[in-house]
Amino acid sequence: MSYAIGIDIGGTKTAIGLVNEQGQISAKVTIPTDPAISPSEMVVRIADSAKSLIQDSGVKAEQISGIGIGAPGPLDTAQGRIACPPNLPAWRNFPIVDELAKHFSYPIRFENDATAATLAEKWIGAAQDAEHFVFITISTGIGAGIYMHGKLITGASGNAGDVGHLVIDPTAGHCVCGQDGCWEYIASGTAIARQASELLDREVTTKEAFDLAAQGEPAIRELVDRVFRYIGIGCVTLINTLDPQKLVIGGGVSQVGDPLFQAVRAYVVEHALNPSGRSTPIIPAALQQDAGLIGAAALVHIRY
Ligand code: ADP
Ligand code: ZN
Repeated sequence: MSYAIGIDIGGTKTAIGLVNEQGQISAKVTIPTDPAISPSEMVVRIADSAKSLIQDSGVKAEQISGIGIGAPGPLDTAQGRIACPPNLPAWRNFPIVDELAKHFSYPIRFENDATAATLAEKWIGAAQDAEHFVFITISTGIGAGIYMHGKLITGASGNAGDVGHLVIDPTAGHCVCGQDGCWEYIASGTAIARQASELLDREVTTKEAFDLAAQGEPAIRELVDRVFRYIGIGCVTLINTLDPQKLVIGGGVSQVGDPLFQAVRAYVVEHALNPSGRSTPIIPAALQQDAGLIGAAALVHIRY
């Protein structure tokens, strides 16, 4: 059995795991992504954690075929750098691949976290049968990965799929990227909580907003319907642009389930341009919690 070390770096926590060639996690540990220490020190912690995992698991060094890293973008994968992550300001231009290579001699693969999760859905998830699909994650932000003609489409610098900054409604307010009315500014989990809190003049979580909408709270219901329409609009753009066989939607917000999927399917049936696009299956991701970790390992285990 061969193993990969998967490393999923997030804004608040970093997961490190040993994942076998069937996509099963044999061992895993999660450590905080500590903003108080330098990224090089953080890499030392990651490397130490990975070494302990290997030691405790009894996996031999020669059974490990490589290290896969998934990290939040923007990145420069050609240079092995994290470029300018909004949630990790200290990591600007950080050469993560070279730093990690100081600790290990295994080959290192490195991609955007949504891209890695896309590969995981192809490998053992909801898109195993698809040669052309888009994975969309609706979570704190919105991101996507594109898999077309049997290949992962990463772009020149590893940033393909940054669909969270498609402009959907330019009248909707100012996004961190400098544009107005980006998809994630109006339809991410963060966006739902922000707008629901404004409407009710108190702190409302995304989950609570969905619950209130289901109970028929009129203002929140209108908000949630609008958000679902925005998600539909983004999906139509992706279908019209890329002609996928299916769309796979994951991320925390997708856990609301049927109401979201039904609304998005209804929008797509009506608005995708070509008849085959209108019937594009829109399905939930199969991997939730560990998608990033399995995706990072997939970068090592499968050709993409
Ligand atoms: P991350 O962005 O760190 O990858 P998640 O994919 O868990 O994290 O997404 C977090 C977002 O999903 C938050 O906005 C959170 O409120 C929302 N969320 C988490 N669980 C649910 C749920 N069961 N229903 C609706 N929204 C959820
Ligand atoms: Zn934006």
